Amino acid sequence: MYTMDYFSTRGATERVSSAEAILKGLASDGGLFVPASFPQMTLPEIEALRDLSYEERAVRILRLYLTDYTEEVVKGCVSRAYGHTFDDVRRAPVRAVGDLEVLELWHGPTSAFKDMALQLLPQLMSTARSKTGEQDTILILVATSGDTGKAALDGFADAEGIRIMVFYPDGGVSPVQRLQMVTQEGANVSVVAVRGNFDDAQRGVKEIFGDAAMAKELAALHTKLSSANSINWGRLVPQIVYYFSAYADLLADGKIETGDPVNFTVPTGNFGNILAGYYAKRMGLPVGKLVCASNANNVLTDFLQTGIYDRKRDFYQTMSPSMDILVSSNLERLLYHLTEDTGQVAAWMQDLAEVGKYDASRLLPALQEHFWAAFADDRATEEEIRAVYERTQYTLDTHTAVAYRAAEDYRRETDDRRPMVVLSTASPYKFGASVLHALGENVAELDEFAQMERLHARSGMEIPVHLAALHTAAVLHEGVCEKDGMPAAVLTFARA
Ligand SMILES: *Cc1c(COP(=O)(O)O)cnc(C)c1O
Repeated sequence: MYTMDYFSTRGATERVSSAEAILKGLASDGGLFVPASFPQMTLPEIEALRDLSYEERAVRILRLYLTDYTEEVVKGCVSRAYGHTFDDVRRAPVRAVGDLEVLELWHGPTSAFKDMALQLLPQLMSTARSKTGEQDTILILVATSGDTGKAALDGFADAEGIRIMVFYPDGGVSPVQRLQMVTQEGANVSVVAVRGNFDDAQRGVKEIFGDAAMAKELAALHTKLSSANSINWGRLVPQIVYYFSAYADLLADGKIETGDPVNFTVPTGNFGNILAGYYAKRMGLPVGKLVCASNANNVLTDFLQTGIYDRKRDFYQTMSPSMDILVSSNLERLLYHLTEDTGQVAAWMQDLAEVGKYDASRLLPALQEHFWAAFADDRATEEEIRAVYERTQYTLDTHTAVAYRAAEDYRRETDDRRPMVVLSTASPYKFGASVLHALGENVAELDEFAQMERLHARSGMEIPVHLAALHTAAVLHEGVCEKDGMPAAVLTFARA
């Protein structure tokens, strides 16, 4: 068996194991950790996934990357992560909706796809902490546009040797998302609203990570920072699994034969989810196109059509808030894999930081070989929810609706008729007001819980138990800070 090393997209010479990459989150030069190669899955190995459970499939994929974890340890982590907290034994089931296949990634405890990674990451991180002999407390800092925050809190609550602090944009998340976070229990958690948007919160967290004086103060408190954002390798690697799993399910259902290419459409924000699909493709999964779906914050649509990334544009708060992002951090990994040139990646990232823009147009042919892009604004998103509901009786959440629409755009604008899997990233219950509005309901008079009842009546889908329970949960976190108050908030928590 080989050993998989990781290094930085920006050229720092350190080579680390997967446990170290997961523990550190970010490389010392501010780059992202990438694996030194793409481990391969042969077609017979892929076909063999057909008869396995989700957990067994996960072990087959993860062990190729986590070579410093024993298979027994990976098995233990996987079974704790995807056990009783998921409300579907298939964990990530695929179902036909109209002409497309929908991969439901929201059967975990917080009803959003972030659970697929964030139920596993704390397991991998706790193991990494003991493997590397780490004595300090690990303090996880998270900036969230909504779903990551709760999924991280749920995954890390009461984890051994780890504390977690979550920053979310004040007024920038849905009422249910906010309630999910501010009611989080656990002695090791803190939740703070930031007066700003998601990019402000994310920049604040990045600055804290890069702040040497802060690191010194924290060291005196026997605390080291780490990240659970999608830039952490331990977030990305669990997401590769469900691309293979979806393929195996299509094989099992007789919808494809081994080797047939399949397309995937992904509702995209930070580019983590879709990047996992690119990894799956590079590992040998027969993937045709990866369709990148954006909302009105369509910086990625423009990038994939021109090769120029330009974040200097208006920021929109949309009904798909988990995609309201102008700086898609995980794109940096793709840039590295397409160029294998860390100096070039570092230069582009410097341009992005200094002038808000970079020109990677020389990569356009390579980008377009793998990716296609489209976007849907809020009006188109609502139309899509209604149209799919009327045609199929299936209720899409707002993020998934953006993707479903982009998948249909792709089918209409190309003659590619290969099977298309649309990644469904949230339960419609997490964005009930927007979904009901799209279905023509007047929800002005209804609170979140009355909305859940109404949505149940319309969709016939079960109300997730964890969401229903928010009704009686106590609010435990009411802190608010300014953008520049984030470092002080971290120190206060670290001292407590
Ligand atoms: C996080 C999230 C996304 C975006 O995923 P990225 O990996 O950031 O591209 C899309 N939909 C939902 C519901 C999410 O929570």
